[in-house]
Amino acid sequence: MSWREFPKVELHLHLEGAAPPSFIRGLAKEKHIDLSGIFTREGDGYAYDDFDHFLQVYEAACTTLQSPEDFRRLTLAVLEESASHGVVYTEAFLSPDFCGGGDVSAWRDYLAAIEDAAAEAERSFGITLRGIVTAIRHLGPEQAKTAALCAAETAGPFVTGFGLAGAELVGRPGDYAWSFDMAREAGLSLTCHAGEWGGPDMVADTIRDLKVSRIGHGISAVRDPALCERLAEDGVVLEVCPGSNVFLGAAKSWATHPIAELREREVKVTISTDDPPYFHTTMTKEFEGLERAFRWGEEDFQELTEVALAAAFCDEETRGKVKERLTR
Ligand SMILES: [Zn+2]
Repeated sequence: MSWREFPKVELHLHLEGAAPPSFIRGLAKEKHIDLSGIFTREGDGYAYDDFDHFLQVYEAACTTLQSPEDFRRLTLAVLEESASHGVVYTEAFLSPDFCGGGDVSAWRDYLAAIEDAAAEAERSFGITLRGIVTAIRHLGPEQAKTAALCAAETAGPFVTGFGLAGAELVGRPGDYAWSFDMAREAGLSLTCHAGEWGGPDMVADTIRDLKVSRIGHGISAVRDPALCERLAEDGVVLEVCPGSNVFLGAAKSWATHPIAELREREVKVTISTDDPPYFHTTMTKEFEGLERAFRWGEEDFQELTEVALAAAFCDEETRGKVKERLTR
């Protein structure tokens, strides 16, 4: 069967990283920014050779996103694309660093535009968005505090979480504890990228020092059975992005991807795309890849979707409404 229509919940998506290439190309043209080198020859994808080059292309694409209006259009384009793959609820990482440089009042303007687009997408495409304000790890703990402040100042029904993305091997989780404490005190739910490039110790330290309920990726935990047991017992949820891991080499192949073993060890796993056009993936392709690799079928995906919805950073009323859309 095609998994495209299957109603899905996605928890790990970077808003800028989900920008359709055609959208960025159009924006670049409007603004007379020369980005011709970052697209594939066919124009339907981003072109780069390795992880460092990927970061350069990502940043080049982001130079087109300069105003709240650009982010309003970006959000709409991303949500339309997600909805076309059956996603009914999604959470996106929103970076104040890309939206006004961490200034709270500029951030409010960008956020208002993003929320406006989210409301329009909900009406037009039947997809619900919630925002996770995200600090960028390699900009350092001091800059992370500005993102945490933006998060705390705008916490509410739409901004429901705080997270940390970027280069995982920069610093230790504890360096960012101040920011996570502030976000927690503002009532935000917490997630942090760990265990994509770092080892199981990075996952363990992240949970201990930042007290997050979810981990972005977390796949290296599979190498430490005791840690897996703890994750299962404590109900920590992993936002696993198999296509991203295989594309970037954090996992060797779909067939050997740790998601199946983690699930066998009763760790709560979910499925997401991370930066879908960069990794040539979609939620439909994620489901297809997992079906091929592990013979997962409807019951498996149903269960994983329920895990994701239960772990979603939204209020109970929203969770109830999304649940209805899943069972329809
Ligand atoms: Zn990510």
